[in-house]
Amino acid sequence: MTTVTLVQGDITRQSVDAVVNAANSSLLGGGGVDGAIHRRGGPAILAECRALRASRYGRGLPTGQAVATTAGDLDARWVIHTVGPVFSPTEDRSALLVSCYRESLRVADGLGARTVAFPAVSTGVYRWPMDDAARIAVQTVRETETAVEEVRFVLFDERAFEAFAGQVHGHG
Ligand code: ADP
Repeated sequence: MTTVTLVQGDITRQSVDAVVNAANSSLLGGGGVDGAIHRRGGPAILAECRALRASRYGRGLPTGQAVATTAGDLDARWVIHTVGPVFSPTEDRSALLVSCYRESLRVADGLGARTVAFPAVSTGVYRWPMDDAARIAVQTVRETETAVEEVRFVLFDERAFEAFAGQVHGHG
C-alpha cells in the first residue's frame, strides 16, 4: 500500500530514499529542479550523468524514461532522473507524463527505495498546466503497483500545493 503525501517546499531538502529529478534529456543539468539538485548534490551526480551519456544514453535519456544515479551530498541515497514531455496545446502527450511516474517508480523498486519524492514534473520550463499535471501525477501513482511505501509530492509554491491537494483529497 503506497501512501501519497504532500509537502510544500524544496525537493533537495527531503530526507527520502530517492529524489526524482525533472531532468532534460541531455542529463547534463538545467534550471528548475535540475539546477537545484546539481547545486546542492554536488559534482558526483553530474559525473554519473556524464558516464550514462557516454555509455547507455549516447543520444540522451528519452522522454518518459527514468534512470538512477547517486544523490551525492543530498540526504537521499539516489536521484532518479526522468524527462518530462514539453506541453503541447495541439498534441496529447499525457502518456509520456504518465510514463515518467511509472518508470521512476519502477526504477525505485529496482533500487529497493521505500520513500520517493517527486516534483511536479513538466510544470516548469515545460509549461504543463498545473491542475492537469497534478491529476495525472496523483492518478498514476495511485494506479501503479510498487513496493514504494511513501510517494511524497514536493510542491514549490502554494498554487502547486493546492492543485495537488485538490487531487489527493478528491475535490480537484
Ligand atoms: P520541467 O522542465 O519538467 O518543467 P522544472 O524544474 O522547470 O521542470 O519545473 C518543475 C516544477 O518544479 C515546477 O512547478 C517548479 O516550480 C518546481 N520547482 C522548481 N524548483 C524546485 C525545487 N527546488 N523543489 C521542488 N520543486 C521545484
